Amino acid sequence: MQNPVREPVTAWVALGANLGDARQAVLQAFEALGMLPGTRLTGRSRLYRSAPHQAQGPDFVNAVAQLDTCLSAPDLLDALQALEIKAGRERPYVNAPRTLDLDLILYGQSRIDSPRLQVPHPRWRDRAFVLLPLADVSPEAVNAQDRVRVADQPIDVLPEDSP
Ligand code: ADP
Ligand code: MG
Repeated sequence: MQNPVREPVTAWVALGANLGDARQAVLQAFEALGMLPGTRLTGRSRLYRSAPHQAQGPDFVNAVAQLDTCLSAPDLLDALQALEIKAGRERPYVNAPRTLDLDLILYGQSRIDSPRLQVPHPRWRDRAFVLLPLADVSPEAVNAQDRVRVADQPIDVLPEDSP
């Protein structure tokens, strides 16, 4: 059961996929995020392509969505995991290729450290595939040192109209 909180909170979700039609999965996820209860999609990054980082398989399609949501952070995580499952997500082993990965990166100013949810996401500042798309929607969230830290991680912008 989802318990709406009173005031909307701005949350950022990192999207990633590297199995099946990854680009389509990410584009559909943007839409699905905007249709969650009490939630509005207020920004979306460009699509990026990145080599797997501490993971295996084909290149990833990555992006970041910015939401205004009345869902609590745990309820939002439930909703993200439901969307992952709907997109065919399986977890055969850690860092396995995935049809859709939705990670809650930031939830307002909240700091959460529970067994199933850590916010801010523990590794977000080390990942080019989070920082670069996040800078598209929220440039003030990413600083020059962040960009230097991830400068050696291969990533590029994916044209959205190419096949
Ligand atoms: P990955 O770390 O590769 O994204 P999974 O998507 O399988 O791996 O997530 C593993 C677990 O991470 C989930 O079961 C979830 O409970 C937990 N988790 C902790 N914090 C977060 C977060 N901020 N966003 C998403 N999942 C999180
Ligand atoms: Mg995840």
